[in-house]
Amino acid sequence: MTDLELPRPARRSWWLEEALALPEFAGPEAPPLAGDVTADVVILGGGYTGMWSAWFLKERQPDLDVVILEADICGGGPSGRNGGFLNGQYDEADVLIERHGDEGRRTVELFARAIDEVGAWCEVNDVDAWYERPGQLGFSTNPSHDAKAAQTVEWARELGYGDVYEPLTNEQLKARFDSPVVRTGFRVSHGGTVHPARLARGLRNALLARGVRIFEGTPIVRFDARRPAAETPFGVVRAGRAIVALNAWARAMRDFRRSLLLRGTYIVMSAPAPERLEAMRWTGGEGVYDLRTSLHYLRPTRDGRIAFGGSSYRVTGRGADSASYGYDPRSASALVRDFRRWFPSFDGVPLETSWGGPIDVAGLHVPFFGTLPGGVTHYGLGFTGNGVGPCHLGGKILSGLALGVEDEATSLPISDGDRRRFPPEPLFSIGERVVGRAIVRRDDRMDAGRPPGRLTDLLARLPRRLGFGLGP
Ligand SMILES: Cc1cc2nc3c(=O)[nH]c(=O)nc-3n(C[C@H](O)[C@H](O)[C@H](O)COP(=O)(O)OP(=O)(O)OC[C@H]3O[C@@H](n4cnc5c(N)ncnc54)[C@H](O)[C@@H]3O)c2cc1C
Repeated sequence: MTDLELPRPARRSWWLEEALALPEFAGPEAPPLAGDVTADVVILGGGYTGMWSAWFLKERQPDLDVVILEADICGGGPSGRNGGFLNGQYDEADVLIERHGDEGRRTVELFARAIDEVGAWCEVNDVDAWYERPGQLGFSTNPSHDAKAAQTVEWARELGYGDVYEPLTNEQLKARFDSPVVRTGFRVSHGGTVHPARLARGLRNALLARGVRIFEGTPIVRFDARRPAAETPFGVVRAGRAIVALNAWARAMRDFRRSLLLRGTYIVMSAPAPERLEAMRWTGGEGVYDLRTSLHYLRPTRDGRIAFGGSSYRVTGRGADSASYGYDPRSASALVRDFRRWFPSFDGVPLETSWGGPIDVAGLHVPFFGTLPGGVTHYGLGFTGNGVGPCHLGGKILSGLALGVEDEATSLPISDGDRRRFPPEPLFSIGERVVGRAIVRRDDRMDAGRPPGRLTDLLARLPRRLGFGLGP
């Protein structure tokens, strides 16, 4: 393979193309809004957050009139284009417990429960979203990250999650995933994978069957949060309550401008080569990730492909159209380079397609939920690249907030809007770019066996020094 190898840029992820080709996931049409309507609850955004919110609203109150407005199609955004890692928030247990003590521990537990509940939901609702629970493998890929691997296991043990993080030697790792980049690490026993777009579309179709009104191809162009009214080019939806589930696009709202930092993340997908997966002993189906800050995450598919993802400081596009976030040739070509380094045994297997999407990074690396002034609009944001499992709990929290219910989810410390705000402009935008680049450069240099460089290291570490849960 040459350095110029560049997979086909995809408007839709491979996942979504696969799902939409099947009638049970394509589902019935959900045409755009046509004229003004009223509803009990209007939900902005048809990703997992918005859809799980709708699901739990209907669970709690079946006769509730719920409307979802989605600019693209449900699952057209990150919910149908992600890596499909289904995790809790074990990695953020230190932040949650440090800030909230026992309540932080309860938060970790509820997030963890979602891993199993997503599987149970698929089973009960007959949605074949390729749900599996093989756990994940995490490991260092350069000597500087070896200590981080050991530290992760040690912290987990100290916090009481020793059963979740099982240390693995190089030999033990290679018995499950024989790549030359593997050094030392661990297995996270409680974690799974899904086919992200099948989950998103399965959920959408279950909602339609339950009477949720979904308007796809309907971008919200203006929103009044105090007397909920979502204006679109085709009409206005007025409702008693609203839920903002717009992920990175919520940055367009003044209330969230300093609460979310944007990052891009991209995936390249190989052609099927199950015999090569077998040869490298990656037959357990585990999700795999390294310990870079701009991490690589990868997992096999049922037909023997590899979805190989990586985070980037580059976020393409800024519009309401999810496709405009989709593809960045520079980030894709860096991923191709890294894929070939990780998988020399895949020489000759083409990388067929590539896509990407935005990540809504929260200052503490933990999602936040709350209610805007006026008391009738609620939000769930800041999933920071780990939303597949957490959005499920998010839906419980948001449905509870919208109905004014006091329960185990709405009483969590993450449900009261607690979040760390980023500095004001122009510092924010400059920092977002400069620090983001430094983080990737630092990781790339260390993976190439070079020192990170003093300035790069200083910049990459700046957010953590300033009290954010970000960076090395
Ligand atoms: C490439 C990639 C890989 C990822 N990998 C993983 C992973 O392996 N595991 C994991 O846990 N997480 C992963 N994530 C993160 C995860 O996908 C998200 O956290 C999660 O999908 C967020 O769901 P959401 O519903 O909040 O947002 P979204 O799915 O983004 O839904 C928001 C919706 O709002 C719509 N919208 C935007 N503006 C408007 C408007 N003006 N009017 C109407 N609708 C609008 C968008 O089209 C979008 O569909 C990944 C993300 C990406 C991009």
